[in-house]
Amino acid sequence: MNCKNCHTEHTANFCPNCGQKTIDKHTFRSVFSGIMEVVELERGFFKTLWDILIRPSAFFEGYLSGKTKPYTNPIVFFIVLASFSTVLINLFIKADKSMEQYHIISMVIISDIILIAIGYTLSLSKKLRFTEYLIVMIYVVALTNVINYIIGIEGAHKGYLPDNIMFLINLIEKLYPPFILSIIFWKNNHIALRIFKIFLFVSASFYLQNAVNISYLFDSIS
Ligand SMILES: [Zn+2]
Repeated sequence: MNCKNCHTEHTANFCPNCGQKTIDKHTFRSVFSGIMEVVELERGFFKTLWDILIRPSAFFEGYLSGKTKPYTNPIVFFIVLASFSTVLINLFIKADKSMEQYHIISMVIISDIILIAIGYTLSLSKKLRFTEYLIVMIYVVALTNVINYIIGIEGAHKGYLPDNIMFLINLIEKLYPPFILSIIFWKNNHIALRIFKIFLFVSASFYLQNAVNISYLFDSIS
């Protein structure tokens, strides 16, 4: 068989050189298998989401070592989640550019910068290349931004969710990224030392992010 795209001779279902699917004629079957590829992509997205949430350590270790096939690329993952958040925001917030929203967005950006800075210091101990570190951060920030947007929605609609649920969301948003980063970067230690380091890092990060939030709170009162 001759590849219709790059003209490499081969006998496989996909061209070993360019990846073009071996198609003799366009049939109903080949068109429908195209649709199945989109479904596969979705499955990849949910698998990525699931694995980052449920088994982050194995996910990042695998992904960084090159097991990228079953997963959605970090930038695509980020864009899909960001679009999802934008839809959420447009559903709940009626295009009102209040000061409050400005504060929330600044808080989100500063929290992200703090995370990125702390995370990079950690990645030095693991001797990750900068691009590898970037991959980890794009996945983690993509997820926490969704949580941030949920809080942003609450900020615009006070009392929309019960206080105790908001407290829980806030807590998860603050604790999740440092937790993920510490289990990735401090894996090869003795278990007790590992738990201690994770605890140290998570509480330091929690403290720093809250310090930013509180200073903004005072800012908006005065
Ligand atoms: Zn080819």
